[in-house]
Amino acid sequence: MSRIRFSLLQETLNRKPIKVIQKDKRSTLFGQNVFNKHAMQQYLTRSAYESVMNAIDLGTKIDRKIADQVAVSMKDWAISKGATHYTHWFQPLTGATAEKHDAFFESINGSLAMEKFDGEQLVQQEPDASSFPNGGIRNTFEARGYTAWDPTSPAFIYETTLCIPTIFVAYTGEALDNKTPLLRALQAIDTYATAVCKYFDKNANKVIATLGWEQEFFLIDDALILARPDLQLTGRTLLGSLPAKGQQLDDHYFGTIPARAMSFMQDLEQECMLLGIPVKTRHNEVAPNQFEVAPIFEEANLAVDHNSLLMDVMQKVSRRHKFKVLLHEKPFSGINGSGKHNNWSLSTSKGVNLLSPGKTPMKNLQFLTFFINTIKAVCDYEEILSASIATASNEYRLGANEAPSTIMSVFVGNQLSAVLDELENVTKGKLSPQEKTDLKLNIIGKIPEILLDNTDRNRTSPFAFTGNKFEFRAVGSLTNCAIPMTVLNTIVAKQLKEFKIEVDELIDKKGLKKDEAIFNILREYIKDSKTIRFEGDSYCDSWQKEAVKRGLSNFKTTPEALKEKISNKAISLFEKMDVMSKVELEARYEIDLESYAKKVLIEAGVLVDIARNQVVPTAIIYQNTLLENTKNLKEIFSDEYKNIAKEQLELIMIISNHITQINALVVKMETEKIKSEKYSGLKLAEHCSNKVKPFLIKIRHHCDQLEALVDDNLWPLTKYRELFFTK
Ligand code: ADP
Ligand code: MG
Repeated sequence: MSRIRFSLLQETLNRKPIKVIQKDKRSTLFGQNVFNKHAMQQYLTRSAYESVMNAIDLGTKIDRKIADQVAVSMKDWAISKGATHYTHWFQPLTGATAEKHDAFFESINGSLAMEKFDGEQLVQQEPDASSFPNGGIRNTFEARGYTAWDPTSPAFIYETTLCIPTIFVAYTGEALDNKTPLLRALQAIDTYATAVCKYFDKNANKVIATLGWEQEFFLIDDALILARPDLQLTGRTLLGSLPAKGQQLDDHYFGTIPARAMSFMQDLEQECMLLGIPVKTRHNEVAPNQFEVAPIFEEANLAVDHNSLLMDVMQKVSRRHKFKVLLHEKPFSGINGSGKHNNWSLSTSKGVNLLSPGKTPMKNLQFLTFFINTIKAVCDYEEILSASIATASNEYRLGANEAPSTIMSVFVGNQLSAVLDELENVTKGKLSPQEKTDLKLNIIGKIPEILLDNTDRNRTSPFAFTGNKFEFRAVGSLTNCAIPMTVLNTIVAKQLKEFKIEVDELIDKKGLKKDEAIFNILREYIKDSKTIRFEGDSYCDSWQKEAVKRGLSNFKTTPEALKEKISNKAISLFEKMDVMSKVELEARYEIDLESYAKKVLIEAGVLVDIARNQVVPTAIIYQNTLLENTKNLKEIFSDEYKNIAKEQLELIMIISNHITQINALVVKMETEKIKSEKYSGLKLAEHCSNKVKPFLIKIRHHCDQLEALVDDNLWPLTKYRELFFTK
């Protein structure tokens, strides 16, 4: 082992878990730093409180006078908790979160100092945001961007700063963030799901989308990262050969959490409690040093904010524990990558889960309505849903035989498949008002019992029904959940809108009874959406062939998938549902393409550096040792032994060959990199995908071969086995 690696490892091994002092009971800590209902009740006047609650529940506007009151109370509350600054906290199109802190402190006439924060500062800010990606929106229109308070997500204090969740929009109203379209999609699902809900409950007045994410990540000691420029700069390893022991024995999954990781988790959970992020589950994942945290599900907008916040808090807490959190979908080749399952459902304001079968046949008809409409929506918009999770980093994970395939499909389990088949075949003709409803009620009456034993779980499916919710598993660990959640809620809203029109038509024009009409439409949907249902192994090659036959999309590259974001179908969908305009969609598309290209080009640049400055020089040093050795042997044994130093010579040739190949490939990749400067937009992304990216794999191959040959004492980069097996 090289001296540098040895000393880094030693540093790692000498580390002790930080003792995390449990400040209080979890339930007492929960939400302490959140301006939640409880805090608002204490600090706001009754009318201000009611006004905020109405804004949350009914989407009503908060007038300026009330906003002033809320601001003053919020400030008093924050200062009482030690806050000194405030910020509008938003989620620009970088996928991360952004904040710019201002002190409450203000001086008047240069002398008198006071704490100031009023409605004006609460409601709207104009951050100097010219460096955030905007996809041309702010160039073509007015250059200014505004952040505006989102009262549906409560303000919170993090590290002495009051953070006010906001949306970020251009002067002309276009969304410049991930949250604005999400809020519009949630509005759409509320409108159309509530309308459908009224078939089953006349008093239904609101439907919310619920989201429970499961965040996977790797924890690596930060000392070991010092000798990995690739991990430092790109979040993933661009080279590294697999150790003999990886994850074959499955001995990490659900194993005892290592002490340092455990202390990190406890610390993280404590921070989460204070911030009102209801994390509940923690466990080891399949790959070495891979873990997962998951909260109790929440209303989708809040859950999205909480996930973005969590990713931030993780990085901050990890520094205290001398860890680096890797959120990249595929930090290591040859072992599992990380995802972020998005568990999604719909719930009434009374807390009734619409994707959970009830006790009566009518409740089950409600369940089937939302269940089948969701399947139909995914079937009709599979390509747009796929595009929502296509990124440069998730591309390395999807379809890698450990993560969902790149083909979208829905898994419902044997028993529900049988129910759908039975319902489909219950009648022959298209419309059947004469059919006895009893028969169908008999079928659906059985649903709760069969779901009790919903043990068949297909881990290979990208979109699976898991008893009382759908689990969108293809989402990447780095992805901002707002993006897939915007698409999913929009397509289901669109589907429910159509469903309502079709059912009403049968009732009004054909005189069908309500549940007959619902049955008939659902039956047609079952037929129409069969292509998306797949119960088998999505990792299997035969599924690829089958999917082609079914006409499902299978995007091999991210740019190919991204194109779907601006198809006529997508534009029409998002415009009709008032979620995104053509301008907004095109802006996002441009940003996605650019971000993809930049990521590939950065990886190429980093690999060139490592190959040239570290791998090749190391190989040459070892080669020289071999040459020296050969020369010496030949000198001593002269011509007596013909085969003297034969192995060394062979090794020298092999190493030579790898060095030659690396040098040649690096030059070729650099040429392609330079060529890329001519392009922009889709052309640039395609060039990076088709011409630059393949070299990453080729160069890596030779580097990894050298790693396996070269004297371990010389190798400069921390090896996979060291990254994985230090606790
Ligand atoms: P796993 O899939 O790992 O077995 P669970 O299915 O129990 O774990 O839960 C995973 C996530 O699904 C959790 O965050 C949980 O809160 C969430 N979840 C459970 N019910 C719902 C629901 N109705 N809507 C959204 N998310 C839900
Ligand atoms: Mg799950």
